[in-house]
Amino acid sequence: MKILVINAGSSSLKYQLLDPATHELMAKGLCERIGIGGHIKHTPEGKEAYAADIDMPTHSEAIQAVLSLLVDPAHGVIKTVSEIDAVGHRVVHGGEEFASSVLIDDQVMDTLKACIPLAPLHNPANITGINACKAAMPGVPHVAVFDTAFHQTLPPKAFIFALPYEYYEKDKVRRYGFHGTSHRYVSQRAASLMGRPIEELKLVTCHLGNGASTCAIKYGKSIDTSMGFTPLDGLPMGTRSGAVDSGILQYLMDLKHLDIHQMLDILNKKSGVLGISGISSDFRDLDQAAAAGSERAQLAIDVFTYKVTKRIGSSAAAMGGLDGVIFTAGVGENSPELRAKILEGLEFLGLKLDPAKNNIRGKEAVISTDDSPNTIMVIPTNEELVIAMDTAKIVSQLKK
Ligand code: AMP
Repeated sequence: MKILVINAGSSSLKYQLLDPATHELMAKGLCERIGIGGHIKHTPEGKEAYAADIDMPTHSEAIQAVLSLLVDPAHGVIKTVSEIDAVGHRVVHGGEEFASSVLIDDQVMDTLKACIPLAPLHNPANITGINACKAAMPGVPHVAVFDTAFHQTLPPKAFIFALPYEYYEKDKVRRYGFHGTSHRYVSQRAASLMGRPIEELKLVTCHLGNGASTCAIKYGKSIDTSMGFTPLDGLPMGTRSGAVDSGILQYLMDLKHLDIHQMLDILNKKSGVLGISGISSDFRDLDQAAAAGSERAQLAIDVFTYKVTKRIGSSAAAMGGLDGVIFTAGVGENSPELRAKILEGLEFLGLKLDPAKNNIRGKEAVISTDDSPNTIMVIPTNEELVIAMDTAKIVSQLKK
């Protein structure tokens, strides 16, 4: 089966064509500057990468450019578009309506639109991407895979904010959690690497990239996670503050004469490790700056790693124990130094890091010592593969 995976942003569209059965990636690419020009980078497996400026007033032209390249004799990997069996779409917010991936029909589209107020920056772009793909490939099943769905198993005590209850009941204010596809994938890979059924494991997954979140996964189900109503909650990130005392907002808004939009812009784009260091949102830059003596770069790293350490401890408390910790995403997969710093002092949770095994980047590995009571792992995330696998599963059920 060949599945086209689409991740549509407001001015971008990422794609992969893959076979979920063999995990074979056939081609991947990115359309950028949609609406303000248009540029495509296309990387077919076994052929040279290709890039071009193509006029893309809307996502429709972008998906047309993608399909043309996929069947192009020089740059393509398939002969005709009809070889694509189904399309899987990444959708950021499924609200409380979607606890798993779904086949997209008119009713699902209506529900996705109803979720727009919950994710005003992301869901409209996802919907635009779905509409463009449905118009370009009308006879093909389309499936939505949600960032929030995996966390729908959170119990009320974990998802309710201590606000007047009507804000939950009437206005849907609650913890939703994000990065669900990644937390689900790496926890399942971890169980399989450990050779144990996920139904008997208590795992903490740490998705540490530009955006960062942790998840407590008890017996295969998400029972708590650090992101909340929006992806601004929880850990400090590249440019996002993570959780802050909400009293600070009024104090700063009064003092600096900021409106709520300016305040949120600061919390989303000028905070996190960028805000603390004043140098960069990229941990590689911070590592370099700290090594060269920058105290604020070191402080940004210390704040970030301290909060991740605390989240591992609180996740273990939430689950009443712990069998394994998994690191994934840009920082989690590639930084032995930050992993070591996060795990410092967690020996009391049965987590003994093996410095030699920890010295790896970007590949699956157990990095705890042989005598460590619990397992520490690095597992590169692969959200596109999960989207393709979910899509294939739903489509095969249709055929039965
Ligand atoms: P992601 O959002 O998952 O693509 O992760 C991006 C982040 O990963 C970047 O901002 C970097 O800070 C971080 N990263 C990537 N490679 C390394 C590395 N070798 N050491 C430290 N951080 C890294």
